[in-house]
Amino acid sequence: MNSPCSTDIVLFGGGIAGLWLLNRLRDAGYSAVLLEADSLGGAQTLASQGIIHGGLKYALGGSVTDAANAIAQLPARWRACFEGSGEIDLSGCEVLSDTYYMWSGASYRSKLKAFFGSKSLQGRVTPVPREDFPAFFADATVGGSLYALPDFAVDTPSLLRELHRRHSGATFKIDAANLAFDRDTDGKLNAVSWGTGVSLQAQRFIFCAGKGNQDLIDLARLSKPASQLRPLKMVWLKKAALGALYAHCIGEDFSMTPRLTVTTHPTPDGRDVWYLGGELAEAGVGVADHELIERARCLLADLFPWIDLAGAKWGCLAIDRAEAKNADGSRPDGALFVEESSCIAAWPTKLTLTPALADGVLEALNRQAIAPLADDTAALSTLTQHLPPATQATPRWE
Ligand SMILES: Cc1cc2nc3c(=O)[nH]c(=O)nc-3n(C[C@H](O)[C@H](O)[C@H](O)COP(=O)(O)OP(=O)(O)OC[C@H]3O[C@@H](n4cnc5c(N)ncnc54)[C@H](O)[C@@H]3O)c2cc1C
Repeated sequence: MNSPCSTDIVLFGGGIAGLWLLNRLRDAGYSAVLLEADSLGGAQTLASQGIIHGGLKYALGGSVTDAANAIAQLPARWRACFEGSGEIDLSGCEVLSDTYYMWSGASYRSKLKAFFGSKSLQGRVTPVPREDFPAFFADATVGGSLYALPDFAVDTPSLLRELHRRHSGATFKIDAANLAFDRDTDGKLNAVSWGTGVSLQAQRFIFCAGKGNQDLIDLARLSKPASQLRPLKMVWLKKAALGALYAHCIGEDFSMTPRLTVTTHPTPDGRDVWYLGGELAEAGVGVADHELIERARCLLADLFPWIDLAGAKWGCLAIDRAEAKNADGSRPDGALFVEESSCIAAWPTKLTLTPALADGVLEALNRQAIAPLADDTAALSTLTQHLPPATQATPRWE
């Protein structure tokens, strides 16, 4: 017989979606508890490049798509959080680069100028004159064009740390293999247990477990939500004084996916990590590590012939993006969640879109007349006795 305790909302998964929602829900007066199967951020969130972007990347096909419009307002919202005036105070979080750039070799210059000069994009991108190039491009030994986008890059470890710090007493580590849901007489889920003699009752269960959402959907026997996975194989290289590089590099075909997307991440031992995504990572799925690293090495030498990569340590990271299922398997345009019975399955689709996901979930709770009811002091005390606290993961290259 499990001893019962109760809270308003149980969140599963402590990536960006679960931690952001934990903050929004608790700040709105709900009692909410987050249960994490492994370590906070250790799946997609810390593997992400941390680019908070306004969707111009999605306009590279030549038109401003629904995906571009859905995301355009998000960078300003995040910036307010980092300045301490937004919906969550993230003023303790580090921004890695306040600007994100688009770089193209000299041969595409006129094409890029025509594209960025198009009416739909006017005022959203700024050409950077050569004398204002950031340090990395100021050293360029080849000609090229640089545009500043309204995007920026955040340090995801500090983002997770700040989101966790505010409500760390409400996050716990569970053994997901022992999860079981209890149902009321109408068959509706009303409690969860995990084999430690405690049953946690709640008004709503929100699945923010990324790739783990499908297991939770199956365990809860839900029929409406379903997820899809889109694999990537990222490459990273680590060396002292690589320099700060934050840029999409555009190839000749101007496809939706840049040839290369680079972010720079400082490590505790004082080196720089360049984290490489874009077309390289999409085409790299299924490619052997040594072969993909060789491709990355050649691409970097082609794009940035002035850099010296001798002595760099290289690695690959195969990771799935987990999203709500789209009929044709394509990436959903926005953040998505699906409501069924007392459950909500949620996917932000992108780090950037998480604030929009949280808005939607809070509106859904309101629409379903789920009001804050429970005082979770007793529940938190019981959970603290039976579960270890959730702890934060570290980036894979550390
Ligand atoms: C390589 C890569 C680069 C990216 N770059 C960007 C970018 O630059 N900008 C951007 O906006 N987006 C980017 N994204 C997308 C972004 O990272 C994801 O959309 C976002 O991190 C998803 O967050 P999440 O909280 O839903 O899932 P996750 O971060 O995957 O977190 C899910 C959590 O749930 C836990 N879990 C799993 N199963 C269970 C269970 N049964 N019970 C409890 N917990 C469970 C996991 O351990 C994990 O901690 C990138 C994604 C990838 C893969």
